[in-house]
Amino acid sequence: MRSDTIRLPAHAPGMEGHLHVLRFGEAGARPLVYVQGALHADEIPGMIAAHHLRERLLALEAEGRIRGEIVLVPFANPLGLNQRVLGGMVGRFDLADGANFNRLYPHLTEVVAERVGGLLSDDEAANRDLIRDALAQAADEAEATTPAEHLKRALLRLAITADVVLDLHCDSEAVMHLYTLTPQAEDFAPLAALLGCEAVLVATESGDEPFDEACSRPWFELKERFPAKPIPLACLSTTVELRGQADVSHELAAADAGALVDFLVIRGAIEGPAPQVPPVRCEPTPLAGSEPLVAPVSGMVVFRRAVGERLSAGDVVADIVCPATGETFPVATRSDGVLYARSGTRFASAGKRLGKVAGTNLQRAGKLLSP
Ligand SMILES: [Zn+2]
Repeated sequence: MRSDTIRLPAHAPGMEGHLHVLRFGEAGARPLVYVQGALHADEIPGMIAAHHLRERLLALEAEGRIRGEIVLVPFANPLGLNQRVLGGMVGRFDLADGANFNRLYPHLTEVVAERVGGLLSDDEAANRDLIRDALAQAADEAEATTPAEHLKRALLRLAITADVVLDLHCDSEAVMHLYTLTPQAEDFAPLAALLGCEAVLVATESGDEPFDEACSRPWFELKERFPAKPIPLACLSTTVELRGQADVSHELAAADAGALVDFLVIRGAIEGPAPQVPPVRCEPTPLAGSEPLVAPVSGMVVFRRAVGERLSAGDVVADIVCPATGETFPVATRSDGVLYARSGTRFASAGKRLGKVAGTNLQRAGKLLSP
């Protein structure tokens, strides 16, 4: 294992942060795999899975079984890790401006299209290499002023040339699920099966440029932009939601790291016998069909259904109880589907999102992710 650190500016002199980057296998070998944990700094399941993955990769490297290069950033957001408010940790949003640490990554398609447009040929591998170089250059040149922008640019630069990107997150309370680009769902089916995903949410554009799409979507868009030239979807990228925030244990994390290793065997980054892949537990569903359940009024939240339960349209998922009047407002789903995530707090203001159902009958448009 080789390790290095990338210095990050901070809001005050003397407070600089560092990204710790661990590299396994031979520098420059392919496939290049990029894995990061806890981009939302308070999502520890990804960080503990990264810890167990490091142990596995050290052992595999000692056995000479790393075939590609695997880059692991075990905690991707030192800025967020350092944010405290009255004893609580704030890891999802930058306290400086409220920006979500997993939104608004540089969108590189335009600048890359301009650079490579006249240079593309009928050789797919040559086009892939040309686009990769242009993406790396564009990521290097992306504007960054605030500490969070510097962090985002540094992470994107590490991942943008990878063959496989695994961004490890979790939800508030949730069962295992993942998000990916629609045309990549099939490639991620083995990972979804190995992890035991209960939902796979797909979109060609989720809105607001999350990290995984900043890595994968330029390929999809360049392919559409230049239909006469062979362009592969050369970066397979996903956001993996490792259950809920409190689901932190060595047993779960070791199993999750094992699933990631098995997937990397399938992708040819690790040498080993083909793993046994269990049957998938769900079919991919459109992110546009994922139903956010919203509190109609303020009040106490009393859930009636647990995460992982399969619901029918009309099922009551929670009651909102007004502590002043005693009135109860049932919150029902309009979709059939799995309740794959729900809020961890038990008091809601009107409009708060209480949960998410992986349905198929809604057709939402615009920005599809939670704030
Ligand atoms: Zn997250």
